[in-house]
Amino acid sequence: MPGSGCGYTASMPLRIALVGIGKIARDQHIPALAANRRFELVACASRNATIDGTRSFPDLESLLAGVPDLDCISICTPPQAHFDAALLALRAGKHVMLEKPPSATTRQIALLAEEAAARGRTLFQTWHSRFAAGVDAARDWLRSRQLVRGRIVWKEDVHHWHPGQRWIWEPGGFGVFDPGINALSLLTEILPGEVNVQRATLEFPENQQAPIAARLDLRTLDGVAIDADFDFRQKGEQSWDIELETTSGSLKLSRGGAGLEIDGKTMLTDEGLAGEYPRLYQRFAALCDAGKSDVDWRPFQLVADAFLVGERRTVAAHQI
Ligand code: NAP
Repeated sequence: MPGSGCGYTASMPLRIALVGIGKIARDQHIPALAANRRFELVACASRNATIDGTRSFPDLESLLAGVPDLDCISICTPPQAHFDAALLALRAGKHVMLEKPPSATTRQIALLAEEAAARGRTLFQTWHSRFAAGVDAARDWLRSRQLVRGRIVWKEDVHHWHPGQRWIWEPGGFGVFDPGINALSLLTEILPGEVNVQRATLEFPENQQAPIAARLDLRTLDGVAIDADFDFRQKGEQSWDIELETTSGSLKLSRGGAGLEIDGKTMLTDEGLAGEYPRLYQRFAALCDAGKSDVDWRPFQLVADAFLVGERRTVAAHQI
């Protein structure tokens, strides 16, 4: 039932708190919330950071005790901290929005989905790339076409995009799959059918616990090959591209879904992440109003499967 037990109706702003004030919270969540009249940002919880003009707490426990009339919690911490925070928030009766990747283990996100359902709360397990401008048109174009091969190239400079982020190299930090999972979230969104991991090669720096590069051989249920090449060592031009060839034309999603080409012709180009987060929060409000959840852990399963079947190679040390 919409808003049941939280004391709001669809016309009232949802009182929301952010957990984990780092790069993505500051770059995208705070501006997107400021521009969305359905939300009122009333508090945050972060061990070291605060938000000017907003009640700030060092942890979620003290936030929940200090601001009991919250409707929602949006969790922007790294994945290793998602499960405990989301479980606590759901058990306190809050709707929860979760940054990607959803959690550190696949069982954790399944348990969170069960907890949200049992408590009648919304769990929005986000894939921000699915809200990129080219996604709907790409899905529609592919629906009536027959795929013959696919290629994903997701190569970025970790020093530029993840400066000083130690968690990404720690167990549960995903390494190159932190951006790579975005590609898999797009692929699973736009393809009409399912894919699975056949083989993978993962390259681990000798001094780190997470891969710096990965190559995946994916297959559709019809046996069509899709190769994925993820690399954190890219200098110069950065690539976040998915190219799909069909029996009747080809499609390229570029810049993480913000650009779309069909048969070599540019169909649209958009602003990237800054366009995605306002749409994410619109969706979260709609889910809260409708009393529904949105959880799809297929991209996460593909990453976990790459770790399960992947051949491991040790490569040169990486300095964070
Ligand atoms: P970040 O800059 O490191 O910020 C995350 C914040 O979470 C930290 O500053 C830290 O603040 C808090 N935190 C709580 N528990 C933590 C822990 N165990 N280890 C480290 N920090 C912890 O990271 P981010 O780039 O914002 O990424 C956070 C999440 O957003 C990730 O899951 C990432 O995949 C996703 N995301 C990031 C981007 C991006 O462009 N950066 C884009 C889309 C999605 P306190 O020390 O104050 O607690």
